[in-house]
Amino acid sequence: MRNQDTMNEPYVHVGIVFDPQIEFTLLTPYQQDGRKVDGHQTVTFDHGRILWQGRLYDELLFEPEDEPTASFELHGVTIGINFHWERKEDQRFQGALRIIVEDNHLTAVNVIRVEDYLTSVISSEMSATASLELLKAHAVISRSWLLAQINKNKEIASKHTDYSACTQTDDELIRWFDREDHTRFDVCADDHCQRYQGITRASTDIVRQAIRATRGQVLTSDGRICDARFSKCCGGAFEEFQYCWEDTPYPYLRKQLDRRIRQGQTSVPDPALPDLTIEAEADRWIRTSPEAFCNTTDKHILSQVLNNYDQETTDFYRWRVEYTQKELSALILKRSGVDYGQIVDLVPVARGTSGRLWKLKIVGTKRTLTIGKELEIRRTLSPSHLYSSAFVVDKHVLSPEGIPGRFTLIGAGWGHGVGLCQIGAAVMGEQGYKYDEILLHYYIGANIEKIYS
Ligand SMILES: [Zn+2]
Ligand SMILES: [Zn+2]
Repeated sequence: MRNQDTMNEPYVHVGIVFDPQIEFTLLTPYQQDGRKVDGHQTVTFDHGRILWQGRLYDELLFEPEDEPTASFELHGVTIGINFHWERKEDQRFQGALRIIVEDNHLTAVNVIRVEDYLTSVISSEMSATASLELLKAHAVISRSWLLAQINKNKEIASKHTDYSACTQTDDELIRWFDREDHTRFDVCADDHCQRYQGITRASTDIVRQAIRATRGQVLTSDGRICDARFSKCCGGAFEEFQYCWEDTPYPYLRKQLDRRIRQGQTSVPDPALPDLTIEAEADRWIRTSPEAFCNTTDKHILSQVLNNYDQETTDFYRWRVEYTQKELSALILKRSGVDYGQIVDLVPVARGTSGRLWKLKIVGTKRTLTIGKELEIRRTLSPSHLYSSAFVVDKHVLSPEGIPGRFTLIGAGWGHGVGLCQIGAAVMGEQGYKYDEILLHYYIGANIEKIYS
């Protein structure tokens, strides 16, 4: 681990409320342009500017007089956007409050120290029953992601980056989607970025301990902060970046088995990874249940990573989905807008290193089309999202014309399988692996660097 200490702890700008009128209460004394202000405030969008206390502004910044003790409350914050439980609540924050104008509304932006932000985010994302080493690993991943966003935001004015792409011919439609970034602040407070509720809910001791122990630490590779992707369960082998998103491989997001062999004090990755890009190997892999860190049904471990553990299924290391012909053809039509007629076959065309399909040929009575990459496949074959695109297909009850009456999809893993496998990492934490061993197992050849003290 190298020590650079070349910068101070940065601040992050978090966009929280987007409304024509925003109400908030400064619970301690704040300063606006050198003037002391506290108590209940209302700001209103007015002809492209901000109306506050009878005057118009282009931007407002409320800075705490005493940062360690200061807090303010935003009223009517929408939480669970687009979920069935969407509702409004008052939320409390540390740090400064910025009001900016965007399109036809105002945006309330919380300007807060990175370590305070991370304490809040990890507390609401992770279960308090998680092991300290798992929480430390997550703290480093969240910090890496956040600082990469802040850096990107500094570059964004000069550069345009592609966040999705689509190549389409008569018989092929290959698409991938990546997260769109924000331009006027670093991250939003919703699931689109990381769910952030300020200090509305108390942080837990073990999370504060994990943040303190890893303060300033990020994953790096070639002098840059890593793109530290993660998903729920890899299915036993890691997927590589280019099979899910842009066709530019990352050296630290590489194939490997999700298991290690102990060698005295240390451990090495198990080298016995089959070539899952070969159909016969992938078929055998998916239909069996090889040993891996994420091959677990331990309720104590699963409840650390799954938010609504009680409501969710736990058979995602290997899973199975059944469709009748009627269900599948109606589903694909609804989800893709393409009328394939009756579905004759689902043919694997190309797989990545975890066995996930990144090209699948859908053969219909009216139309045949090859689709990809993994998210497009998962969206097309499920009313929401199929667990993963690592699956094989069994056809049953063929008609005289060769049209199946029923399909079984047998699959492996949950999510894209690139980078850290959350279930596997939780198991590693329980088995006594340290957070740096966990991180360097999933981000191959990366470094853990402390970039501020
Ligand atoms: Zn966002
Ligand atoms: Zn795994």
